[in-house]
Amino acid sequence: MSSTVVESAELSAILAVVAPVAERLAVDGHSLYLVGGVVRDLLLGVPVNDIDLTTSARPPAIKDAVKPFATALWTQGERFGTIGAEVESTPLEITTYRAEEYDPDSRKPTVTFGDDLETDLSRRDFSINAMAISVPDGALHDPFGGRADLETRTLRTPLDPSISFTDDPLRMMRAARFIPRFDLSVAAEVDDAVVEHRYRLPIVSRERVHDELERLLSLPEPRAGLEFLGRTGLLDEFVPGLSVDERDDDAVRERRASVLHWASELATPVARRAALLWFVADDAGWLRAWKYSTDDSKATRRLRQAVTSFLAGPLTPRTVRSAAALVGDEGLDEAAALASMVDGVAVPLGAASELLASVRSSEDLGQLAPVIGGKEMIEALGLEPGPILGRATSFLTQQRIERGPMSVEESLAAVEAWLADQ
Ligand code: ATP
Ligand code: MG
Repeated sequence: MSSTVVESAELSAILAVVAPVAERLAVDGHSLYLVGGVVRDLLLGVPVNDIDLTTSARPPAIKDAVKPFATALWTQGERFGTIGAEVESTPLEITTYRAEEYDPDSRKPTVTFGDDLETDLSRRDFSINAMAISVPDGALHDPFGGRADLETRTLRTPLDPSISFTDDPLRMMRAARFIPRFDLSVAAEVDDAVVEHRYRLPIVSRERVHDELERLLSLPEPRAGLEFLGRTGLLDEFVPGLSVDERDDDAVRERRASVLHWASELATPVARRAALLWFVADDAGWLRAWKYSTDDSKATRRLRQAVTSFLAGPLTPRTVRSAAALVGDEGLDEAAALASMVDGVAVPLGAASELLASVRSSEDLGQLAPVIGGKEMIEALGLEPGPILGRATSFLTQQRIERGPMSVEESLAAVEAWLADQ
């Protein structure tokens, strides 16, 4: 295994934190390495997220070695070989070398501890994530050419991608996330293996797919990852209506290309999600099935409703206000952008932007609640407390959307006129 020494100030600082742990492990002949994302990020010179380490020591020995230096210790992952610790205010995860084998019908590995670093690295998802730096000397261990792949920006698996993706199909979703994040091009055999093994995605829990999809949708520029999902057909495994069985159908292909393009053009995860789901009739059912929280579901469905209200036209201040009632002022631009992408004739982007600017210049679209509450209605109009107050408030909210901003006097007059009709 070739080793070169990596130099960087950030690495030196990390090594200083973990060196004492390595020293204690070394007494029993154990090695300690920084591994995975942290090594990749150090080589790229980008901020390190979390610090993972791997060692030949088994969990009880890891605990003994880290305890004297730790201000906190987490042992929930011990069964899987992982001990979490905070050392010098730095959270660490130290995991025994893995040599797991997979049950072919689930992605749950039957955890087996390994005895060498190279086997551990070979089980990792991509070559750029399969490097280690030894503690404390900073030597790089890179048996699968991860550093060269980082330099040429190539996404490759350490071993045969067909085996890797069959073992753990979640890695295909992780690929979609790493491609745009590090501006990678995909080794041809990786693309081919995803095309071949995408059908195995359903053995992965929906929570895990959800998490990877959301991490992709949260990147500043997710386009290349979304294109990968479309090109390989992996998208079809979780967004219906664009299904593989219909792949030769031009209309379906066009839809798939459209939703991916729309999602790439939009800026927020919620709008990107709404774009991907545009042709899914039962969006509520989809969001539930894919484990979205009530808040995320609500936000996604409201954005979609706001788009629908733009499309229903005509484009008037009233349309803008009713969309704002659904998505807030901050969601309007994305809703209008998606509407214009879905149907640029009904909602020309230029006209929509002008309209938004003009309405914003004359009113605060973040302020759609009535300017008077129950108390004022009771005091000024002599209303009795009860359901009538709620109905009057709904009426006023609707009036705010129809007419624009209303003063206290206008609001009281409107309620008075409304009461006369009740
Ligand atoms: P991030 O900066 O987003 O955390 P990361 O590469 O650190 O990126 P993690 O999910 O934190 O990603 O995983 C840490 C490391 O564990 C990875 O770099 C990789 O070596 C390994 N890994 C994680 N998930 C898998 C997987 N499904 N299959 C194989 N190896 C994995
Ligand atoms: Mg990480």
